[in-house]
Amino acid sequence: MKKITRRSFNATMTVGIGAMLNSTSACAASPQDGKKLGYALVGLGSYSEFQLAPSLVDAKHAYLAGIVTGTPAKATKWAEKYNLSQKNIYNYENFDDIANNDDIDIVYVVLPNSMHADFCIRAAKAGKHVVCEKPMAVSVAECDAIIKACKDAGVKLGVGYRLHSEPYTQELKRIVKEKQFGEVNFVSADAAYISRGNPDQWRLDRKLSGGGALMNMGVYSIQSAIYGSGQNPISVKAQEFSTRPDYFKDTDETISAQFEFPNGAVGNIFTSHNASINRHYSSFDKGWVELEPANGYGPLSGRTAGGVTLSYPHERQQKLQMDDFAHHIMHGSVNKVPGEMGKRDMIIVEAIYESIREGGKKIDLDLGQMGIV
Ligand code: NAD
Repeated sequence: MKKITRRSFNATMTVGIGAMLNSTSACAASPQDGKKLGYALVGLGSYSEFQLAPSLVDAKHAYLAGIVTGTPAKATKWAEKYNLSQKNIYNYENFDDIANNDDIDIVYVVLPNSMHADFCIRAAKAGKHVVCEKPMAVSVAECDAIIKACKDAGVKLGVGYRLHSEPYTQELKRIVKEKQFGEVNFVSADAAYISRGNPDQWRLDRKLSGGGALMNMGVYSIQSAIYGSGQNPISVKAQEFSTRPDYFKDTDETISAQFEFPNGAVGNIFTSHNASINRHYSSFDKGWVELEPANGYGPLSGRTAGGVTLSYPHERQQKLQMDDFAHHIMHGSVNKVPGEMGKRDMIIVEAIYESIREGGKKIDLDLGQMGIV
């Protein structure tokens, strides 16, 4: 497969930086057209196996170049399935040797949440561009450390927020930005699924997950409240409900939170590991937009005021996301999911937990435009 190494790419970028573009679709012909960047997936769990790897098979600007796994049997299976060279297969111990591998341009960390910071920082130190799965980390301090490591190493950083590359979400963002229905006055963002299958799963272990529903699906609610209003919240109040304390012993089960936005709009978010809902609603002075489902792997579905049904051809969101990030690296198009976005969401997560600890107290936030893309 034709590919570009990071070194040769960096040399080209130095000359081509003046031609920075704002979006993938706006891309004019460039010397890099047709080239693909190599991703290495770190952690071959269900998201890597069933979403990311199959998406890379069809990607336009990227391909699966390597893997990092602690399970030798998986390494054998994946090497055969994806025709991977043995020299591009790492385990968690020898992972840092990836620095010497020019086939790998981007390291994509798909491990339990509390392992993100360690592997993202090591990837940056190895000189690789980094994609970090959501939630970016388990604390704001860890997000800062990842951002700093990528900045110090001069590599790009993206968060695994696939919806920013997805057409229904992009249309919602456009309607908000262009004020098609006027000023937003209310957003409702719900992201929840019933997660009671395996009591030993890492998501129920706070040391590995950093928290429960809020860390897992709640970040989608936070995300859509923000892109569905076009603003960062200036305050939050939150409440926690526990209906199955016997099962959700160590992590939060159900959380509701209310946001206040700078233009006077209000928002309500809901997340749970003991209920299912997947919906976004933005209300404007002269109309509304509803997405349902709003955050699954697709196809999504949406409607707007005026009887308009949104309809787009379905493509794997992860393919679009990984292509967008590779394109950002190669052509300087906008990074739709920068590290600051993941950090901002973690600031809000920490504020929600603080509000709950303080009995629903209002927590002020001073985020400015942080992470708004
Ligand atoms: P998973 O449990 O299916 O896979 C986790 C992987 O990490 C496995 O390969 C496991 O072997 C490995 N691992 C290494 N050390 C481990 C340890 N100490 N304990 C447990 N597993 C360990 O999880 P997943 O669903 O693939 O999630 C991985 C990451 O991807 C999480 O951060 C999750 O939030 C994120 N994710 C994102 C999306 C999305 O839509 N963007 C969807 C699913 C998962």
